Amino acid sequence: MTTTRKVIIIGSGPAAYTAAIYAARANLAPLQFIGLQPGGQLMLTTLVENYPGFVEGIDGPPLMETFKKQAERFGTEMITEDVTAVDFARRPFTVSAGGESWEALTVIVATGAVAKLLGLENESVLMGRGVSTCATCDGFFFKDQNVMVVGGGDSAVEEALYLARLGRKVEVVHRRDTLRASKIMQERAFKNPKIEFIWDSAVEDIRDPEIGRVTTVALRNLKTQALSERPVDGLFIAIGHQPNTELFRGQLELLPNDYVKVEPGTTRTSVPGVFAAGDVQDFTYRQAVTAAGSGCMAALEAERFLEATHS
Ligand SMILES: Cc1cc2nc3c(=O)[nH]c(=O)nc-3n(C[C@H](O)[C@H](O)[C@H](O)COP(=O)(O)OP(=O)(O)OC[C@H]3O[C@@H](n4cnc5c(N)ncnc54)[C@H](O)[C@@H]3O)c2cc1C
Repeated sequence: MTTTRKVIIIGSGPAAYTAAIYAARANLAPLQFIGLQPGGQLMLTTLVENYPGFVEGIDGPPLMETFKKQAERFGTEMITEDVTAVDFARRPFTVSAGGESWEALTVIVATGAVAKLLGLENESVLMGRGVSTCATCDGFFFKDQNVMVVGGGDSAVEEALYLARLGRKVEVVHRRDTLRASKIMQERAFKNPKIEFIWDSAVEDIRDPEIGRVTTVALRNLKTQALSERPVDGLFIAIGHQPNTELFRGQLELLPNDYVKVEPGTTRTSVPGVFAAGDVQDFTYRQAVTAAGSGCMAALEAERFLEATHS
C-alpha cells in the first residue's frame, strides 16, 4: 500500500479521461486505472460525427487517444490494469488491481457499459461498417437507406422510430410474435408506415465482410426454420446494454437494471466520496459527450468533497 491518493479514477472512456483532465488540472494528482482494454466503447467504432469540436468527424480510436494524451499532459498517472476489488466500507477507500492495493479519499467510477451482441462472427467484423448498437450515433449514415433493427424491447422500438425519421424503410426483427416494449411505444411503431415487423425470427448471418459493409442479413424463422435473405444497408442491434458494475455489487447501491444509482442531477453515489460518471450510471442518453460531461461533474464534485472534508 502506498500513500493515500486524493482521487482514484476507474475506467478509460470519455467519462474517466474527462474526470482525469479536470482532477489533474485542479492539482488532485489523480491515479487512473485504464484497464486492460483502454479507450472504452468508441474503440469499436469508425467515424464519430457528433462529438463537438471535430468538424469533419473523427474515428473512435484516435479520438480516445486524444482524450488520453490530454489527461496525461496534466500529469494523470495511469495504470494499465483492471481493478479487481474495491472496499468502500472503510475510509480511506481501497482499490485493488494486479495483486496490489491503493488507498484513496475519493473514487470516481467510470467503468462504462457494453452493448449486448448477437454473438455472430461477422457482427464484430462489420461493427462500425454497417452494424451498429446506437441509432442516435450512426442513424445519420443511413439516411434514405434500408435498415434493420434487432430486438423487441423499448430500446429496439425507440431505435426503430428514430431511424424511421431518417431512412427509407426500417424492418424490426424479433424472436417472438409480440413486443416487450411498452404499449405506447408499440402503438407508435405500429402506426409508422416506414416500420415493418418480422416476427419469430433471428439473425443467422450478416454479409458481406469481404467488401467491408453490410449488404444482406440472413434470417431464420424460429417456428418454421425457413431461411430468408433481406437486402439492408445497416443493422442495428438493440437487445440491451450491460453496465460494468459487478465489481461494485455490495459496495454501492445499484438500480434493479444493475446501473449505479446516483442522486438525480449529480454523480453522487450511495457512498459519500464515491462518484459515478458516464454509461455506468446513464441508461438514458449513452453518448460520448454526455459521458464526458458527467466525468467533468464527478471531478468537480470530488474536488468539493475533498475541500469540505479534508482542508
Ligand atoms: C459501436 C459504438 C458506436 C458508438 N458511436 C457513438 C457516437 O458516434 N457518438 C457518441 O456520442 N457515442 C457513441 N457511442 C456511445 C459511446 O461510446 C458511449 O456512450 C461512451 O463511450 C460511454 O463512455 P464511458 O466513459 O461511460 O465508458 P466506456 O466508453 O464504456 O468505457 C469504459 C472503460 O472502462 C474500462 N473498465 C471497465 N471495468 C474496468 C475495471 N474494473 N478496471 C479498469 N477499467 C475498467 C472498460 O474496459 C472501458 O475501456 C457508441 C458506442 C458503440 C458501442
